Amino acid sequence: MISNRVRDIMNEQVRHELESYYIYLSMAAYFHEQNLDGMAHWMRVQSHEETTHAMKFFDHIVDRGGTVTLLDLKQLKTSWKSPLEAWKDAYAHEQFITSKIHAILKVVREEADFTAEPMLNWFVKEQIEEEKNTSGILAQMERIGESQDGLYLLDKELGARPWPAGSPFDPAAYNAAGD
Ligand code: MG
Repeated sequence: MISNRVRDIMNEQVRHELESYYIYLSMAAYFHEQNLDGMAHWMRVQSHEETTHAMKFFDHIVDRGGTVTLLDLKQLKTSWKSPLEAWKDAYAHEQFITSKIHAILKVVREEADFTAEPMLNWFVKEQIEEEKNTSGILAQMERIGESQDGLYLLDKELGARPWPAGSPFDPAAYNAAGD
């Protein structure tokens, strides 16, 4: 049985992951508006991933006999001054999420809830990836500066990010799914 403290902080994390979905979808919309469809695509794939992160916490609470409570989502931000600012925010957001994962791990250890450690370890490793990806793209954006050629090439590169297998968020999937 999950303790109330672990349940509550995991319900909070479901919210953080869904807010991540929401802000990256906002960034996808922003990038489309800037005619950076590759970056928009990268953010669509990222926003899909965030829903699966939310569901991992959702499932864990259910599996441990706890109550899932879906909390209000905050609209974190909807517009950016520049693509560079959006990537800065993406990296800062992942650092924020990392701090939240570490805080959950701390609570789980205080509560001696050993059942939660394996999935949290997955998230600790996942956050290394998430920070590496967003900080890497941010560094490329900074190097590119005002170069339109550089921006064109990076946008093309990010447009090649594959969808996770079977993703229902892939436009090819939901447009083929029926009427
Ligand atoms: Mg996440």
